[in-house]
Formats: sequence, C-alpha cells, structure tokens
Amino acid sequence: MKTITEQKPSEEITGYLKECQRVYLIGCGTCATMCHTGGKSEILESKGKLEASGKKITGWMIIPTACDDLTKYALLEEANNIKAADCILALTCAIGVQNISNYLEGSKPIYPALNTTFIGIEDRPGHFIEVCMQCGDCVLGRSASICPLVRCAKSLLNGPCGGSSEGKCEISTDVPCAWQMVYDRLAATDRLDELEEIEPVKDWSVSISGGPRKIDVIAECVIAATEPTKSEADTLRRPPQ
Ligand code: SF4
Ligand code: SF4
Repeated sequence: MKTITEQKPSEEITGYLKECQRVYLIGCGTCATMCHTGGKSEILESKGKLEASGKKITGWMIIPTACDDLTKYALLEEANNIKAADCILALTCAIGVQNISNYLEGSKPIYPALNTTFIGIEDRPGHFIEVCMQCGDCVLGRSASICPLVRCAKSLLNGPCGGSSEGKCEISTDVPCAWQMVYDRLAATDRLDELEEIEPVKDWSVSISGGPRKIDVIAECVIAATEPTKSEADTLRRPPQ
C-alpha cells in the first residue's frame, strides 16, 4: 500500500511561506520517495529554489517513514535546526504532516508541499493506480478482489453500466472497465455464478460519511482477551450442580 502524492502548485507553496524567512524541510523515505515527490532529490530541488528566492534553509531531513512513531526521534535529533526556522515545509503525505505537527504539538507552523491524492499500488514502474477508498465495509470478497468503488468510474456494485467497449470504460480508452476485469477473473476460475448475487445497498455510515473514524486496538485486544469464549460462557451460565 502506498499513499500517492503530487507536488502542489508552486504559487500555493509560495503563499504559505510568504511570512517565513527561515524554513526547515522534511521529506519522507517511504511513499513520497517512491512517488518522486518527497525524496532526497525533491528536497534538494526545493532547497535550491527556496534559497534562490531569498529564503534561508535552517536544515532538512528525510524521515524514514513520516507517518510512524520513530518520527518523534528524528524531530528530536534535529530540534535545534527546526527551532531556528519560522516554519516547516513538509514534502510528505498529509498523514506525515499531521504526525509531525502532533509531535511538535503545534509549536511550529508546518505547511504541506504535496497533495495527497489516493491510496494506490504500483502496477508498473512509476505508475500508480487507486485501489481503495477505505469505505469501511470491504466487498473485495464479492468482486474478484477488484474494488468496484474506485476502479469503476460510477462505483457500481452490481455489474457494469453498459457503456463498456472492448474491455475499456466509457470515460476513456485508457481506463479498463472494472466490471470487465471482474468478469474475466471470475470466468477464469469458473465462478461466474457469483455475479448473480445481488450486492445489498451499501452501508456508508462506516465510511468517512459517518464522521471521523477511529479504532482503539489496545482496548479491543483487552476485550478479546477478557471476553469468555462460547464454551466458557456456557459454563458460566450453567447453574451450579
Ligand atoms: S470495497 Fe471498500 S475497503 Fe474494499 S477495496 Fe474498495 S474501498 Fe477499499
Ligand atoms: S464502463 Fe465499466 S468501469 Fe466504466 S463506468 Fe461502466 S461499468 Fe464502470
């Protein structure tokens, strides 16, 4: 899984930095490096451009994975250089920006240099496709592992729209029809009868439509460890002999 990012328009970044004379730059060694948006060469390119425009760069680093816990140690190591800056420009995905900001407890303005566009996989070198919109109620088990929500232009859940032509989506001859792919995969494994099952109306309340989502995995582990199994529950319910 990769978080796909694109460089923001330079005018937008210039606007963010207009009150900042001294800037600290942060990139990410994982997804942003793979997308060629926040690796070493992009950081050095940004550094050169900002210096050419009269800004002072107090320092820069590539955090190995800007969305994880080790980020706080990277920030501590560079604390003096970060402190010397008026703001941080983050060449990371939006998760990295928020993670860094949380560790700095909002003490330093941090601006995104990238747009976070989608969750994707690399289907060929340097080419990423969206594969999941994190809907919270996955249907891949009923769609031959092809997400109809993001791979079909109409997010159809019960088969094609009728606009498909020669295996391509009606929106573009460059875009494969998701439902043609589903059909082909099911046909190849003799499972076409699965297409006759009607997908029920989707529950969007578990998606972002239901508000910010959160999961407390620690609490869930504790509950799972302390909840009795069915046989334990039966034993508990059994009246004393
Ligand atoms: S059905 Fe939902 S969870 Fe599954 S791949 Fe598609 S968007 Fe992601
Ligand atoms: S042509 Fe296929 S992918 Fe395109 S909108 Fe119709 S069903 Fe979806």
